[in-house]
Amino acid sequence: TKGAAMVTAVASRVQAQRKQIDKVLALFQLTREHLVSVRDKMRAEFEYGLQKKTHPLATVKMLPTYVCGMPDGTEKGKYLALDLGGTNFRVLLVKIRRGRRLVRMYNKIFAIPLEIMQGTGEELFDHIVQCIADFLDYMGLKGAQLPLGFTFSFPCRQTSIDKGTLIEWTKGFKATDCEGEDVVDMLREAIKRRNEFDLDIVAVVNDTVGTMMTCGHEDPNCEIGLIAGTGSNMCYMEEMRNIELVEENEGKMCINTEWGGFGDNGCLDDIWTQYDKEVDEGSLNPGKQRYEKMTSGMYLGEIVRQILIDLTKQGLLFRGQISERLQTRGIFETKFLSQIESDRLALLQVRGILQQLGLDSTCEDSIVVKEVCGAVSRRAAQLCGSGLAAVVEKRREDQELEHLRITVGVDGTLYKLHPHFSRILQETVKELAPQCDVTFMLSEDGSGKGAALITAVAKRLQQPQKE
Ligand code: BGC
Ligand code: MG
Repeated sequence: TKGAAMVTAVASRVQAQRKQIDKVLALFQLTREHLVSVRDKMRAEFEYGLQKKTHPLATVKMLPTYVCGMPDGTEKGKYLALDLGGTNFRVLLVKIRRGRRLVRMYNKIFAIPLEIMQGTGEELFDHIVQCIADFLDYMGLKGAQLPLGFTFSFPCRQTSIDKGTLIEWTKGFKATDCEGEDVVDMLREAIKRRNEFDLDIVAVVNDTVGTMMTCGHEDPNCEIGLIAGTGSNMCYMEEMRNIELVEENEGKMCINTEWGGFGDNGCLDDIWTQYDKEVDEGSLNPGKQRYEKMTSGMYLGEIVRQILIDLTKQGLLFRGQISERLQTRGIFETKFLSQIESDRLALLQVRGILQQLGLDSTCEDSIVVKEVCGAVSRRAAQLCGSGLAAVVEKRREDQELEHLRITVGVDGTLYKLHPHFSRILQETVKELAPQCDVTFMLSEDGSGKGAALITAVAKRLQQPQKE
């Protein structure tokens, strides 16, 4: 019958299309050998970054943070914390009471408009200080002289806990006249310009470090901080003797690896796809942060979008029609990817999400979109897991242990919201670092609380304890 013939025609067309789609998806399927090689290359980059001779050219920068001690439970007091560089900009008031688990927080989220993120440095810092003023007003704290910890989630070269020179912007930021400048000085100057209140800026902290500290407050085994969110990064406690940039040889210091730059020297080219290349070229920092662009929330949706555009061009999706929406950068936010990949969601609901994104899909389209999202996020989780395997193995070997037990403090929207990312990441670490027993601890508001804890520790060390 006519109906049956149509079914056959559709079936064979679907089969041919399937082959083409699988060919694209295969580019994202990494073998165990790929992952082992990513782990080993990451490990080699750690060593380049730590050694004086190779440090200047290292793509994984391995920055000393001057955070050497974990909170010991005696910290207390009221602190202000700023958190810039994640999904939101926040100002927080953190009250720490003596003893563990007693951190009370108040916070307010402020938007940073695009024209400020990408305007001048002065405008950016004036805006930040405006937000602090609003917050102090709101909390009834104008005039209070509180110690402040600044979580600034970008690569900074530090020479002490309260100095940090921005190396370069990452993610969505591109304010002028900031690179090469001390962010604490820029904040101080903006506070002076406003001439309304004074703040004692005690520490500048990367979000990974804040996250590690917050989890370390509860679990002393926590010696690694991981962010899998808008951006991607990891910090860990390193033996001083291995940090050639710091004279001291006793004890440990936290290293901000800035592993997002992994691959910028071409060492990941074997797994770098044409889609990754397009995402990189369309970004604010072409050629930079390649590993971050393969593993973090700000870019995964962009990779998906590039694949969908290509599949549509090949006539395999959306009836071959590239809509204006599909050409729009940034439409696939982490939350949409997470929703699309949720196992509880029926395909009809996937189509609903695509509809919200302005994409008219058939049922087959929605299946393909879901597969594309799955391939991209799976690769991201595996790559991130391979990097993490490198650091836990390094820690195990450095301590000459047969077996290492270690906790990783984690934060970030991708890790927290995505239905599969955290599981695949953990499976990969287990597979690639079998002699390590790794516990993952979600941080509750790590970057904010952590900045306050680090500020508290720094204050404690600054002033001899008065009782
Ligand atoms: C920044 C890191 C930060 C990470 C997560 C990256 O783009 O370079 O400093 O820790 O994002 O926020
Ligand atoms: Mg954050």
